[in-house]
Amino acid sequence: MQYAVTFPTGTTEYLFRSNWEKLKELAPPDRAVIITDSNVKELYPERFEGYRTLVVPAGEKSKSFHTINDLAHKLIHFQAHRKTMLVGVGGGVVTDITGFLASIYMRGVPCGFVPTTLLGMVDAAVGGKNGINIELHKNMLGTIRQPKFILYDASFLSTLTDTEWSNGFAEIIKYGCISDVRILNMLESSTIQYFQKRPDTLNDLIMGCVDVKNKIVHADEGETGVRKLLNFGHTSGHAFETLYHIPHGYSVALGMVVACRLSEEQTGLSSAETEIVRQLLVRYQLPTHRKYDIHKMMEILRMDKKRNAEEVDYILLHKLGKACIKTLPFETVETALSSFIHAGQR
Ligand code: NAD
Ligand code: ZN
Repeated sequence: MQYAVTFPTGTTEYLFRSNWEKLKELAPPDRAVIITDSNVKELYPERFEGYRTLVVPAGEKSKSFHTINDLAHKLIHFQAHRKTMLVGVGGGVVTDITGFLASIYMRGVPCGFVPTTLLGMVDAAVGGKNGINIELHKNMLGTIRQPKFILYDASFLSTLTDTEWSNGFAEIIKYGCISDVRILNMLESSTIQYFQKRPDTLNDLIMGCVDVKNKIVHADEGETGVRKLLNFGHTSGHAFETLYHIPHGYSVALGMVVACRLSEEQTGLSSAETEIVRQLLVRYQLPTHRKYDIHKMMEILRMDKKRNAEEVDYILLHKLGKACIKTLPFETVETALSSFIHAGQR
């Protein structure tokens, strides 16, 4: 099945239910350079045969200027030119690095992605944002540039760890909450193991998520408005991640519970709806509560670069499938966060 969406800055071809062989047509080996990470290269060595391949160490640390500099030198060594296509084959780290490098190498060369993690397939590879970190500051350098294609080869997912599956499902639950209850319905009657055994059903789910993200990105590529809805669960989630070094999806899961409870107070979400989200998170092996230091959490929320001193933008829900942006005074957030600790774990 092929699916194409036109963006203001270019066209991305989506190749769902595809396979690796298709890459040779989209990015012929003599005109492409693959960027991947050490894990993916080690797990799938045969796929890279015939391609010039640059390998970065697996992990977030590779999203650095040092890596970009190193890769750019290697591209010069390969005599890569304006028509050379950079293909990122890997998780979000690889597609972020590839997208960024492609947008600045020789003032821009084409790129394509083969996301190999569930999170990459539903989120990181989609929407055109890329970025690298400056020390602990995430995504401080980056651009917005759409890839020419995204090739979905679900066979890569067979080697994902349980944690990486759950990380992906946290973002999938997010899409359901903010925009499409059909996604939540699909999840309610299934499990990770169910999707692992049914690649076609998983593909439908992935396509549903890509559709939600694309519609939002299409409406607001530069993130001045509705694109912020994609941050549901990420406001306090980011604080959990920074403070307790827990995986991204797990932090977002905790952040979604906080946001649901704030939504009960602020925007009319029912406690029964919060409970549906909480049970889904448990079903997809994600945490729904943990102890936290309220003062340190508030410190991080205040420090976050996207906020001014008095207020914070939270993405809340009117109901499942309908999100909104609400600017809340820090005091309200602090009171709510403290009451969640005292209320215990519903
Ligand atoms: P990742 O790229 O670090 O991949 C997670 C781990 O899985 C790594 O160890 C990787 O080597 C391994 N891996 C990749 N494919 C595998 C496979 N098929 N089998 C086994 N292991 C495999 O992380 P991620 O979760 O994919 O993405 C997170 C990154 O994406 C973050 O840097 C985040 O900032 C970025 N991101 C970007 C956007 C965006 O819009 N640009 C959106 C969301 C996240
Ligand atoms: Zn996320």
